[in-house]
Amino acid sequence: MNINQEFDTIAAISTPMGTGGVGVIRISGDNAFDIIKNMYNRSEFKPNTISHGWVIDNFDDNKKVDEVIVLPFFNPNSYTGEDVIEIQCHGGVNIVKKILSLALANGCRMAEKGEFTKRAFLNKKMDLSQAEAVADLIHSKTQEFVSTSAKNLSGVLTNKIAEIKKSIMDILSKIIAGIDFPDDVAEPEYEYLTVEISKNIDDIEIMLSSASTSNIMRQGVSVAIVGRPNVGKSSLFNALLNLDRAIVTDVAGTTRDILRETLDFGIPVTLIDTAGIRDNKNVSKVEEIGIEYSKQSIDEADLVLFLYDVSVGMTPDDIEIWELANNKKCIKIANKSDLASIRNEEDYYISTLTKEGIEDLKNLIKSNVCEINPENLEFSTNTRQQECLRKAQDSLKIALEAAQRKELQDLISIDVKAAILSLDELTGEVVTDEILNNIFDNFCIGK
Ligand code: GDP
Repeated sequence: MNINQEFDTIAAISTPMGTGGVGVIRISGDNAFDIIKNMYNRSEFKPNTISHGWVIDNFDDNKKVDEVIVLPFFNPNSYTGEDVIEIQCHGGVNIVKKILSLALANGCRMAEKGEFTKRAFLNKKMDLSQAEAVADLIHSKTQEFVSTSAKNLSGVLTNKIAEIKKSIMDILSKIIAGIDFPDDVAEPEYEYLTVEISKNIDDIEIMLSSASTSNIMRQGVSVAIVGRPNVGKSSLFNALLNLDRAIVTDVAGTTRDILRETLDFGIPVTLIDTAGIRDNKNVSKVEEIGIEYSKQSIDEADLVLFLYDVSVGMTPDDIEIWELANNKKCIKIANKSDLASIRNEEDYYISTLTKEGIEDLKNLIKSNVCEINPENLEFSTNTRQQECLRKAQDSLKIALEAAQRKELQDLISIDVKAAILSLDELTGEVVTDEILNNIFDNFCIGK
């Protein structure tokens, strides 16, 4: 995509390709109203007024195509900031395709991925971090991330960055005033510079402290359930899933392949139920493969749930698996607590039968992998934004050292400016075609 391309009128189907109640075709650009008038049996549009009529095929005798409602948005009061037409038709694949083909035949160009949102950004309807929040909202795997992304979309991250940028701008303008008007304005004290620059370094550090939790909320974590056959792995898998996904039996070694299921625990958690790990002797070929998979899944997992059966206690086999699992971040779980006569402090007791400890286990999983409770996240950052924040912080650290050495303030100003530039890159005030293309290529067509 070329950001300088002329703003021709674009069209796309904005709803998923399938059968549903409604389908939406969106048109945006200077000719949106002229184009809809060709393919619609009404030609008057008023702001804030929905229009009801028929899409007609102006290439085939004005034949009726579908009964629709048309939502006209007059620029700049639209998503993209341009004239926008949204056609809501009946939700059938061939209806939306036909209406899109009519829009194209009447002069629209097919929209590229994310082009509507890209235009919204280029027309300053939102900054880059808000545009990225739109993609996050759409692709969100959990309710928590929906809520965090909505905060970003409403401008929480933008405002945080603006606050820090303003504070750095204040430092810069004091330095520049001292340099440009040495007779009238005293250059700022070095003490002032070190205090103020340090404050901004700390503020950026606070923003970065939620980076790993943000990344986990976006990408999720994998959690492997391991243990000897019959300790209750499949039962726990099902209890966490709340449905009978894995087969639970009392015959040892029935879970022969790996089951995976992604759940919403406030973060996306992919649960992996492995085959019972045990000594490879005397097991069938199929099970050997399963055991090998189990070892692999310990390696791949971000967190391991090691299970043993409290009614039996820790056997030598359990200890062997525990040692393997304990190389990773691991929770030691004593299952079948309903059968336990005594309990020890170190282990976490559950019963998949009575459901004791199951709900809290979800929170324990969350607190083991997230530095911050996702519910308390004020905003989220993605890796691009984190990179910009780190660059800004690095520049400030260089400026701080220079201020501590009482170097020429001209020199200090170079790194202070660089920090501002990195923040501008984050919000998109300074952005290259390549960065924009990377961001909007992750969108779907029609958004
Ligand atoms: P896996 O081989 O480790 O996957 O074990 P399963 O989930 O198949 O369970 C093995 C047996 O233990 C089954 O008969 C389950 O009903 C039983 N079981 C699992 N969890 C509990 C529990 O918390 N309490 C009791 N009493 N039995 C359980």
